[in-house]
Amino acid sequence: MLHGLSRCALRLVLAAAVAVLPSLIVTSPASAVQVAGFAGSCPTAGFISDPYGGSRDHDGIDIANNYGTPIYAVGDGEVINSGPAQGYGQWIRILHPDGTVTEYGHMYQRDVAVGDRVTAGQRIALMGAEGQADGPHLHLRVRRDTSMSHGIDPIPYLAERGVTIPCTPGQRPGPAPLVYPVGSGRVVSARSSDGRLEVFAAGADGVHHAWQSQVNGGWSAWERLGGPGNAQLAIAPNADGRLEVFAVNGQVAQHRYQVSPSGAWSDWEDFGSGGSSVAAGVNADGRIEVFASGPKEVFHRYQTAPNSGWSGWEQSGGGPAGSRVKVEKAPDGRLEVFALNGSVFQHQYQTAVNGGWSQWEDFGSGGHDVTVNHNADGRLEVFASGPVGVFHRYQTSPTSWSGWEKTGGPANSQLAGNRTADGRVEVFAINGEVAMHTWQKDLNAAYSDWDKFGTGGTEINAASNADGRIEVFGSGKDGVHHRWQTGFSTWSEWDWVNGSGPPIT
Ligand SMILES: [Zn+2]
Repeated sequence: MLHGLSRCALRLVLAAAVAVLPSLIVTSPASAVQVAGFAGSCPTAGFISDPYGGSRDHDGIDIANNYGTPIYAVGDGEVINSGPAQGYGQWIRILHPDGTVTEYGHMYQRDVAVGDRVTAGQRIALMGAEGQADGPHLHLRVRRDTSMSHGIDPIPYLAERGVTIPCTPGQRPGPAPLVYPVGSGRVVSARSSDGRLEVFAAGADGVHHAWQSQVNGGWSAWERLGGPGNAQLAIAPNADGRLEVFAVNGQVAQHRYQVSPSGAWSDWEDFGSGGSSVAAGVNADGRIEVFASGPKEVFHRYQTAPNSGWSGWEQSGGGPAGSRVKVEKAPDGRLEVFALNGSVFQHQYQTAVNGGWSQWEDFGSGGHDVTVNHNADGRLEVFASGPVGVFHRYQTSPTSWSGWEKTGGPANSQLAGNRTADGRVEVFAINGEVAMHTWQKDLNAAYSDWDKFGTGGTEINAASNADGRIEVFGSGKDGVHHRWQTGFSTWSEWDWVNGSGPPIT
């Protein structure tokens, strides 16, 4: 019966919230470039007794538990409201560095006051049933900004920040890179919602899979999954944290997905006809969107609702034929797609968050491979390889770009990148002769010279462990090796991932 009991009357809460608006302190201009997400923390133990939306248009989620259950800040931030609020009884609002606001209601005890700085996971209150509530629960609402406009679904918001409800308070917050766990190439990896890395490698006999047997370390043996041979892969998380993998080769496109967060995987399912490469991104509302290049142009399809079914394939309005494709999220939440082949480099971008797409626009001359990463302040940074080495250009605002700058690095290399635990971008490149890496010397800053990282190979991928240590997978015709950070600037030796895995040619 708790499900029906521990809920709040949404419209009363909404009215009450508007009534206390005059006390609101607006501290961040809406036009500011926002930090792209933060490492989230579990708000409270309990189960969801009333989800977001539904026929009552519930603006938030209710997490029910016993009186006095501790409630914790979802992220670092500043307390902008703490006190009585009609409907809520009492409320607390926290403004986070990315400009979003989390709102907590119905507590019987508050531990923080307006102006307090809080950290992710800090206790801020004890659960109650004050105001319009039929039993003890936390009403958690998430808003895009400090306005009183309708909130967004807290579930994908939390998932992007590494938190899946139900969750266990007190676990150390994961690092920010889970905000962008998408990847594409012959070898891809991403973190399951419980923090364990999973890796997929596309061999001639189909896709092979291995996973960390525990968070931050230890690997399973490789499991052969079948699916398309010599495929290009992409991986992305669903809004509820379930990873999904996409595989294309010249004849077929297939996908498979976790049936529960961090759980077992579905079989391969048909996803369309073949293509040259595939990439996946996650819309601001949690819907995965997939791009694939074909012999003439680029196509896309997208989930019609978070965690849900798919649109048909649609033309993207052009794009380079047979191109390498990458999808990333701009600091304001719009997806952006980059595609290059040997002679053309173009990009297109959503014209509104979760919205439609621009025309393809020239982004540079052609090249071999591309990787897109996020500065600590959220600005995208693009690296592309070609016959004379690796070049980069970066956003100077959400809609403007620097020119191309030469960085050196291996010619015609495969590229990958990730963020270190302290927020610096690190980029990895491999060609037949050498593997090299370069890293930002400070947050949002210039890069080191390229440094040797290993011998040559065919593909490289960089993922982020739950504790923030980057883990790199380098492959060749003898299989898949890995190497991981042991500190900010120290690395393990290369080793097999518990067995060689498939040859990647
Ligand atoms: Zn509620």
